[in-house]
Amino acid sequence: MAKYTFQQFQTEYPDDESCLAKLMEINYGGTDIVCPGCKKRASFHPMSKRRAYACQECGHHVYPAAGTIFHKSRTPLTKWFFAMYLMTSTRHGVAAKEIERQLGVTYKCAWRMCHELRKLMASADHDFGGGSTLKGHIEIDETYVGGRRKADEPDNKTVVFGMVERGGKIVAGPIPDVTTYTVEGIINENIVAGSTISTDENRVYHGLRHAYAHGTVNHSEEEWVRGIHHVNTLESHWSLFKRAVKGTHVHISAKHSWKYVSEFSYRRNYRHSHWTMFNLLVQAFALPRLQDA
Ligand SMILES: [Zn+2]
Repeated sequence: MAKYTFQQFQTEYPDDESCLAKLMEINYGGTDIVCPGCKKRASFHPMSKRRAYACQECGHHVYPAAGTIFHKSRTPLTKWFFAMYLMTSTRHGVAAKEIERQLGVTYKCAWRMCHELRKLMASADHDFGGGSTLKGHIEIDETYVGGRRKADEPDNKTVVFGMVERGGKIVAGPIPDVTTYTVEGIINENIVAGSTISTDENRVYHGLRHAYAHGTVNHSEEEWVRGIHHVNTLESHWSLFKRAVKGTHVHISAKHSWKYVSEFSYRRNYRHSHWTMFNLLVQAFALPRLQDA
C-alpha cells in the first residue's frame, strides 16, 4: 500500500487552521468563492477567534465545520485529523486505547471518536443500497459475528452478508436473516445481471441461476474449489475481520456490528492507497450530517 507518511500528514495539517482550510476547500471549493452574503465573487479569510471564514467584501461569515461531528465537539480539529490518520494507517484499524494514548485524550473521548469515525467510514463507502455496481466474477458468503452463545440466552450473533468482486470491491453488512427473500433482494440490487457468482451450497442461493452464471462449492463435503468457483477471497476477509475484532475490541454488540463490518470493507476497498483512504474519510467528516445514525 502506498504509504501516506506521518511526516507528510504533519506537513499538510500542522494546526487547526490548516485543518479548517481543508474543510473550507471541501465544502466551499476554496477561499475564493461567490459569497452567500453579498453574492459577489470574493476572497474569504480565516477569522482568528472563531472557526469561520469572513468575506473580504461584506464581512459575511461561513462556518466550514458547521453540522460536522467536530462542530459539537470540544476536541481540537487537529486531534480529529490525527485520529483519522491513525484510523486509516493500519491494516487492522486502531483501538480506542491507542487513540487515547497517541492523542492524550480521555478514554471516553477516544472511544467516542472511534465510534464517530467508524460511522463516517461506513458512509464514505456505501452499504447494500449500491445499485448494481458489482460485476464480473463475484464471491458471496455469509458469516456470524459478535454476541455470545449461552445455553440459557437467545442466540444474539449477527449475520453478516458479503459480496466481493474478484479484483474489485467488497460490499458487506449485517442482514436480518438468511432467507431467499433477503439474500436475493440484496444480490439483485448490487450485482449486474449476467455476472458470474460463486457461493456455497446454501439453498437460499438456488434461484440465482435464473439471472446469473452461478456455481457452488460444497463446504459440508469439504470441497473448497470447483473449477473457477470458490469463496476464498471472502473467507480470508472474514477471518481478518474476526482476528482484528478479537485483537482490538472487547465485544461487538449486534447493534454496532454494522459499523465494524463497514470499517473493514472500507479498509479493504481503499487498501491500495492510504492517502485516498484518509482523504475520503476527511471528506465524509467535512460533509454536514443530516442525522445521527
Ligand atoms: Zn460577501
